[in-house]
Amino acid sequence: MIKTILPGSTIGIIGGGQLGRMLAMSAKEMGYKIIILDPSTECCGKIFSDKFINAEFSNFEKIEELCKLSDVVTFEFENIDATALARLEKKYNLVQSSKVLKITQHRYFEKEFARSLNIPTVKYICIEENVNIDIKKTYLMKTLRFGYDGKGQKRISKKEDIEQHTILEEIVSLDKEISVVAVKDKFEVQIVAVVENEHRNNILYRSKIPTSATNEQENLAIEYTKRILNNIDYYGVLTVEFFISDGKVIFNEIAPRVHNSGHITMQSATKSQFRAHIEAICGLRVGKIINKETTLYNILGQDEEYFKNLITKKQGYLHLYEKEPRKNRKIGHINFYGDIHLGGHNEE
Ligand code: AMP
Repeated sequence: MIKTILPGSTIGIIGGGQLGRMLAMSAKEMGYKIIILDPSTECCGKIFSDKFINAEFSNFEKIEELCKLSDVVTFEFENIDATALARLEKKYNLVQSSKVLKITQHRYFEKEFARSLNIPTVKYICIEENVNIDIKKTYLMKTLRFGYDGKGQKRISKKEDIEQHTILEEIVSLDKEISVVAVKDKFEVQIVAVVENEHRNNILYRSKIPTSATNEQENLAIEYTKRILNNIDYYGVLTVEFFISDGKVIFNEIAPRVHNSGHITMQSATKSQFRAHIEAICGLRVGKIINKETTLYNILGQDEEYFKNLITKKQGYLHLYEKEPRKNRKIGHINFYGDIHLGGHNEE
């Protein structure tokens, strides 16, 4: 059973990017102490940590040091060694199970897991070494591991273009994309938000609550997400991305952590995904969360000036992560109440 960790105790966070930063901000608001581990001393979460450990995510000794010093440990970065984590969770308080990490780090395991729970996925072919298959149509080839924001993805239609350690996915027409941000605490699963997401160049561009999906589609996505959370040993926020294609709700992927689309909950929700996650991993009760109509825009390096200028004229809730504004790098987001449409920024 999950331990109760009260404010004043120490939370360890593996990863000091914007997710780690916003988790730390929420935890500090509640009176927790924070230790962050990150390979970069420049990481944007460091400023909200009471102690900072500068180490690679592969440095087992340093991750163990973080565990020793923390009452509970969480991660914002999911590409950590799941086998190392499995060893650590026997001795320390890590509540986002390494088994879940093993599944979600591998696109084939992840899809097989969804299918085992009778959750529809796109059709796929897993390419492992020495498998000699032929293809007769265009597929989306994705690396089995370490893919995010469309990285490691390519459309291919010839046998010769198939690369090893990939999965070939059938390309579906997208009516829309939605994500379900959910949280599991020691009592129950609660839905933090159901969000509609629009991508540009494979990077999340705009998110919106409520979605334009039908109630039936939303309810199905929620039911699938609950089914996932009820079948894994996991506490905290977990996000499931879905495609809506020809009216059908299709599983895309799981993020066993807080999610970019969930940044909208900093304004839309009675409790943000960050606070919900901290409460859940600390064995507290999250309770019911209600959302109101809100729009999120991600801010990329090239958009910084546009948005800084915008809030001199238009009411919004700007969140900047104090990151170097490089092109196409996520450096912040902005939330607006209502259904807001902006244009003219973030385009090539
Ligand atoms: P992923 O990294 O798998 O989430 O993919 C990034 C984005 O590419 C998704 O949010 C979709 O917009 C698009 N995409 C991914 N897989 C497919 C697919 N099988 N069919 C159509 N679009 C896809």
